[in-house]
Amino acid sequence: MAKLKILKFGEPTLRKVSRPVEEITPRICTLIDDMIETMRAAGGCGLAAPQVGVLRRIAVIEVEEGKVYELINPKIIAFSGEQREQEGCLSNPGEYGVTKRPAAVTVRATDRNGNTYDLSGTDLLARAICHECDHLDGKLYTDVEIKDAPKSVGKK
Ligand code: ZN
Repeated sequence: MAKLKILKFGEPTLRKVSRPVEEITPRICTLIDDMIETMRAAGGCGLAAPQVGVLRRIAVIEVEEGKVYELINPKIIAFSGEQREQEGCLSNPGEYGVTKRPAAVTVRATDRNGNTYDLSGTDLLARAICHECDHLDGKLYTDVEIKDAPKSVGKK
């Protein structure tokens, strides 16, 4: 496994739309392993492939230690409610903003073995799913940030 370089806000790659994965090759599996290592080393709870310079629809999420979700070609198929919570991004270290997100979401994705599964989440997991899926469309959390919300210190 290898730790990858995380692109920072301002890099044009982060604003591009990623292409779907058509075939899960050993290279894709290595990329996923490296993304998990990179996310953990950076202390994040999610990472999307464009953040490491790869414009493919792949993301990893770990909001609960040891429980990693691999999302290949994820698509949000249901969402409900609303939450306004603090959110950050490994591509924007040290900065946080309050965003408006659905309270609950369900995403349909494929894992590295080619199995399609549905993942439902609320609270932080719902935010992470939305955040990482947004990255695959070149969107950043600052796009859904409530600019006049009071900011507090901390990490979510
Ligand atoms: Zn991010």
